[in-house]
Amino acid sequence: MTEQTFDYKIEQFADLQLLRYQVPGFESLTLKQKKLVYYLSEAALEGRDILFDQNGKFNLQIRKLLEAIYLHFQGDRSTADFQAMVIYMKRVWFSNGIHHHYACDKFVPGFSPDYMKGVLASMDEKILPLEEGETVEMMCDKLFPVIFDPLVMPKRVNQTDGDDLVLTSAANYYEGVTQQEAEDYYAALKKADDPEPIMFGMNSRLVKKDGKVQEEVWKIGGKYSKAIEKIVGWLEKAETVAENDAQKEVIRLLVEFYRSGDLKVFDTYSIAWLKDTESRVDFVNGFIESYGDPLGMKASWESIVNFKDLEATHRTEVISSNAQWFEDHSPVDARFKKKQVKGVSAKVITAAILGGDLYPSTAIGINLPNSNWIRSVHGSKSVTIGNLTDAYNKAARGNGFREEFVYSDVERTLLDKYADITDDLHTDLHECLGHGSGQLLPGVDPDALKAYGSTIEEARADLFGLYYLPDRKMIELGLVPDAEAYKAEYYSYMMNGLMTQLVRIEPGCNVEEAHMRNRQLIARWALKRGEAENVLEMKVCNGKTYVCVNDYARLRELFGGLLAEIQRIKSEGDFDAARSLVEEYGVKVDPVLHTEVLERYRKLNLAPYKGFVNPVYTPEYDAHGEITDVKVSYTEGYAEQMLRYSRDYSNL
Ligand code: ZN
Repeated sequence: MTEQTFDYKIEQFADLQLLRYQVPGFESLTLKQKKLVYYLSEAALEGRDILFDQNGKFNLQIRKLLEAIYLHFQGDRSTADFQAMVIYMKRVWFSNGIHHHYACDKFVPGFSPDYMKGVLASMDEKILPLEEGETVEMMCDKLFPVIFDPLVMPKRVNQTDGDDLVLTSAANYYEGVTQQEAEDYYAALKKADDPEPIMFGMNSRLVKKDGKVQEEVWKIGGKYSKAIEKIVGWLEKAETVAENDAQKEVIRLLVEFYRSGDLKVFDTYSIAWLKDTESRVDFVNGFIESYGDPLGMKASWESIVNFKDLEATHRTEVISSNAQWFEDHSPVDARFKKKQVKGVSAKVITAAILGGDLYPSTAIGINLPNSNWIRSVHGSKSVTIGNLTDAYNKAARGNGFREEFVYSDVERTLLDKYADITDDLHTDLHECLGHGSGQLLPGVDPDALKAYGSTIEEARADLFGLYYLPDRKMIELGLVPDAEAYKAEYYSYMMNGLMTQLVRIEPGCNVEEAHMRNRQLIARWALKRGEAENVLEMKVCNGKTYVCVNDYARLRELFGGLLAEIQRIKSEGDFDAARSLVEEYGVKVDPVLHTEVLERYRKLNLAPYKGFVNPVYTPEYDAHGEITDVKVSYTEGYAEQMLRYSRDYSNL
């Protein structure tokens, strides 16, 4: 399909928009590489149910219930109630559960318990997802409070300072244990001076059984075994078409980890994975993101399969090959700098499939592994996902957003001219250099910042990128066209952090998600410092608030100052300073400005959150059952894809 005819937009509902992405270059992969992508993409889809269950213990049954109604209900499907139930189902699909994927609060259904009861009464109970020994009545008694009662499981992840974060979070990572018990359990496992500490608790649910706190490990023979067996089956096929021995070993180690649940093996796997930089095809498949656990330990399941975008990778290679220069010249205290920045590898990738916690809502950059000791000894692997960013940009052309929120034509011209470049570059700097920079002082617990750790870490990486965008080095390296370009990113970063990201927050709510907290923290902090010396300001014209940046050069110095402080907090494990920074700048929302932004945004009729439907890969076989080619197509719709996944990959 050509640029002109490819339709990036699929559908829009609630606060969500579904897009498609293209996979340019797939056709020119070798047959062996195509097979590898295909097998790994099947492995990526087999774990879908794991994430639903991790996000809440009733999610799978609720999803199956909604799908059964959607597929089999014979009554009037044109009513507002039924349509509201369809929207609710689509939101559950998007969030992999009943809580908002980003804001974490529970969806409010637009239909009543009585309506749903009536629908269920009209249906054959054989097609309903009843558990063993369960009647429809028992299922309703169990699930209806979960779906309808705003007081039951209200938040997937609760970060409210002072609450018992474990007991008050609906995520399914703990059962019957308090925050104190969870913290004590893991504190007892940690050895103070272990130079290579495994990520305790990462691949398990912590439960209290018979009065004893214990782990249910996610592995073959353990929890989620059925899904993991399927994943492993595809991984073993992938191993037979690996591009080289290094990649074969990566896959073998991952399989060993899925079989044993041994976190030491996971570390060995992670090191092998980050050192495999030669293979064209690469993938993530496993328990990775810890944002879903209020204590930041338990990792949600996700997968992405991708291959290197050779042209765009040149850009990130230039950045990473200069990593030491950036580390040496950063404004942080010398004690907190790495003497040697190791192995910051970076590439631009083309996503071929998204799964688990990367689907349908996805990251546009990835930096792994998460283990602190591996990062400091072996470095990390950084990627930015070129074809997804491109799809976002193309889908957003001409949607009226900049006309509404950007202060004047001066800034709009800057954004039109440079924003695509500087936005990518900021992501590259964040992923390739930001997360990999700096070091902890000896003896500092990597988890010392606890619930504030994620926000501080994201702020550190963002600030590193912001600080360097205007640097002369950027022009020298040929990464920006001129000395003005950085202003586009500065303006859009401040506008987003101070105002426009608020479109993602419900009225009356605070900022919860780590990346959003980080952006608001940086922007509010800079505004507070900058206002006094007229570096930047919030201007009101005709009842509309705008961000104005008057002195971009001075704003850079402010970013540098905050970077130094944030690095100190991380390096020293200064929990109190992390808490006060995040709580003072990152969390609270100005209700008047919030209302205004929501109102202006509503009129544009845009969705604040976007996600992607995957392409479909179809193998072609010869008479002996050998794959002769793999074809990619982009025609599947959203409900169509979700229902197919629920049918073909329903493992739990
Ligand atoms: Zn990050």
